[in-house]
Amino acid sequence: MKKINVKKIILFLILIFLIVGIAIVIVNLKKENKLSETPELILKYQNAQVELNDEVYNLDYITKIENGHIITNKELVNTTRIGQKEVEIEVEDLSKQIKKITLYIDVVDTEKPTINFSKELNTLVGKEINLLNNVVVTDNSNETIIPTIEGDYDFKTAGTYNLFYVATDSSNNTTKESFILTVMEDKNNSDKTNTKSNSSSNTINPSTNQSSSKTTQNIQANSSSSQNSDSKTEDNSDNEVHFTTSKGFKGVTKNGVTYIDGYLVVNKTYSLPEDFGSKLTSETTDAFNKMKAAATLDGIKLWIQSGYRSYDLQKKLYNNYVNRDGKKEADTYSARPGHSEHQSGLAFDVNTIDDSFIGTPEAIWLSKNCYKYGFILRYPEGKTNETGYKYEPWHFRYVGKDLATKLYNNGNWITMEDYFGLTSTYSD
Ligand SMILES: [Zn+2]
Repeated sequence: MKKINVKKIILFLILIFLIVGIAIVIVNLKKENKLSETPELILKYQNAQVELNDEVYNLDYITKIENGHIITNKELVNTTRIGQKEVEIEVEDLSKQIKKITLYIDVVDTEKPTINFSKELNTLVGKEINLLNNVVVTDNSNETIIPTIEGDYDFKTAGTYNLFYVATDSSNNTTKESFILTVMEDKNNSDKTNTKSNSSSNTINPSTNQSSSKTTQNIQANSSSSQNSDSKTEDNSDNEVHFTTSKGFKGVTKNGVTYIDGYLVVNKTYSLPEDFGSKLTSETTDAFNKMKAAATLDGIKLWIQSGYRSYDLQKKLYNNYVNRDGKKEADTYSARPGHSEHQSGLAFDVNTIDDSFIGTPEAIWLSKNCYKYGFILRYPEGKTNETGYKYEPWHFRYVGKDLATKLYNNGNWITMEDYFGLTSTYSD
């Protein structure tokens, strides 16, 4: 009996081992099955090449994702600098595993710079001018690009020189623009060069003689109303704000343009609308031509170096100066867009637009005589706190003989701001 029992026990044990073994195998098989049922993450992405300052997002370059989702938030990629950007993106698959990928975005600059410049520059024999004055290069790279000048010229020899401005950005994109430098004979009897300077300066218009018999006040009022009637007619009551200045003058702001006692005023307080103006007014060029003729008789040569400037050009000039010297400094010598008197078509710069003009026979003659032709020295010496600008002996403004004589004040110039009782400060 005992022997049989031992055999049974052994068989029983073997049976248990077998059952446990089979169970383990089944469980393991099931585990493996479960794993292979989890679908695998499918993720496709590409590297990219984009233009400087393009608006692109980090997730723009994931082309396919299945069995998972992106954890990283959508974000703008900084494309303000040339070079390769690493963009890291985190993805989670269905088994909650997180995967990191890195894609590369190449920021390149293939755009050419833009050169803003005057097509014609004039000077007198022996009188060097800075050919880079009022030349502004803009580029999507926002870098400061100083153009070079290509071509031969000689300030000591009269003639017309065909030259080029060449601007190259740091990615070697190059723009080349031609301009003409005229070096004029410094003689009073040279009618040829006089005519030439007139016809080549795009700001001077032939006189139309339509306003010769009117009074100063009427000319001024006419010039303002004719400018307005170009775009709007019979629009008297709309957009008009009337006020009285601190010195009792009546002011009105009409369609964004301010007139004090009938005179258009532009300074740091009073601006012009973006679309205002297109060229110097005929009153301004007529008066300039008379003044120029009188100056020639006195042995003084005058020409307009910078006349009408559009809002857009002023914007480019001003932004360029801000980039170069900072906003605070730029505000002392350059108007913000909309605040330049050059946009009014009533103001211009003569001859040489820098401090080397101070004290020249031309500057002295103008300061003494310009009022006789209806012009004022708009930014006199020592009046920065009134006008908001430093002394500019080259900048003149047409106001008509009546007001010009009052502001001339026997050689002791009064500013428009002082005379009318106006401020000239930016609101910010
Ligand atoms: Zn000026």
